[in-house]
Amino acid sequence: MKILVTGGAGYIGSHTAVELLNAAHDVVVLDNYCNSSAVALERVAKIVADETGRPAQLTAVEGDIRDRAALDTLFSEHDIDGVVHFAGLKAVGESVAKPLEYYENNVGGSITLCQAMQAAGVFNLVFSSSATVYGEPPEMPIREDFPIGVPTNPYGRSKLMVEEVLQDLARSNERWSIALLRYFNPAGAHVSGLIGEDPQGIPNNLVPYISQVAIGARKRLSVFGGDYPTTDGTGVRDYIHVVDLAKGHLSALNWMQGNSGVGIWNLGTGLGYSVLDMVRGLEKASAREVPYEIVDRRPGDIAECWADASKAAAELGWKAELGLDQMMADTWRWQSMNPDGYKKQGQG
Ligand code: NAD
Ligand code: UDP
Repeated sequence: MKILVTGGAGYIGSHTAVELLNAAHDVVVLDNYCNSSAVALERVAKIVADETGRPAQLTAVEGDIRDRAALDTLFSEHDIDGVVHFAGLKAVGESVAKPLEYYENNVGGSITLCQAMQAAGVFNLVFSSSATVYGEPPEMPIREDFPIGVPTNPYGRSKLMVEEVLQDLARSNERWSIALLRYFNPAGAHVSGLIGEDPQGIPNNLVPYISQVAIGARKRLSVFGGDYPTTDGTGVRDYIHVVDLAKGHLSALNWMQGNSGVGIWNLGTGLGYSVLDMVRGLEKASAREVPYEIVDRRPGDIAECWADASKAAAELGWKAELGLDQMMADTWRWQSMNPDGYKKQGQG
């Protein structure tokens, strides 16, 4: 199949591009590089050529999902079978300061993309949603049939809005086949050490922050809250290896071959780890100390969050296979091979 990957130069998109190409799909990436580097796509091509022994069928298009004319050109030049849609803005704090940018990119951009798909007769769409749509769930683990909650910030609301738009779209025309994938906490990097998460500025997320402390780029980790009702008082999350997550997108595309309507799946491991578990995990992988201090809770955080991943296993035949040790070893390999992310290449 020929798959359009929006935001394919980004963290999850680049890993998904590798898995799609390794599975012999053709990939067209559309990215405006607002939070990524074209170097990531050169690395994707290298990984695939090394792993498969043949050149990657990868086309990179620089452009914006809000640009309808660019989308129409792309769909007219490429015979696209399905779209995996990652493009969007994802920083929770920034979304509070810049709500219009978030709604314009995430909601407006997704609508423009769907309009262009519809005009081009492309009806298969995988959407990157988030466990944040559950808000503060009543119990753990989180199942897909839990009521959607009240996201506490514009980023979370933008994800929920797009989910609702896509549900309406599928109801309007039975040709649509749409997968809403609710990610838990993606972490780790490709085993090659060539691609990984490359946050701009101070990382918002735990794992890149810890690995920057271990490499010496940051002094110490602030642990947001030590008094949660969890095993060690720190927040518990379901960290999923980004390569497992990437493979979940292939399983969703396969599901689309015989199904229409909307499918909703949690992509998580079903296991919860605390902040301190993650600190110890990276200390073990890096053989370095990660200094930390416990500070106040971060507003909007919940105590714990992990997935019931059984629906994806039953319906998609997908489950996470890589454990914490692998996740941390891969994080550290990426961090130590690329201490400045992709910037060493003079880009990004
Ligand atoms: P990322 O920022 O690394 O990747 C997003 C990519 O989209 C970037 O390459 C960026 O340049 C591109 N982009 C942004 N706006 C665009 C636009 N208007 N037009 C074209 N390209 C644009 O983020 P990621 O971590 O890979 O996340 C991918 C998706 O998964 C996002 O939609 C995000 O909200 C969602 N998600 C991420 C997480 C996470 O923790 N990383 C969790 C849940 C959901
Ligand atoms: N966290 C932390 N310090 C940081 C970043 C995150 O203690 O610098 C904690 C956060 O409170 C949560 C967990 O790590 O319990 C995961 O946070 P992250 O921002 O990575 O993902 P979230 O679950 O909020 O989407």
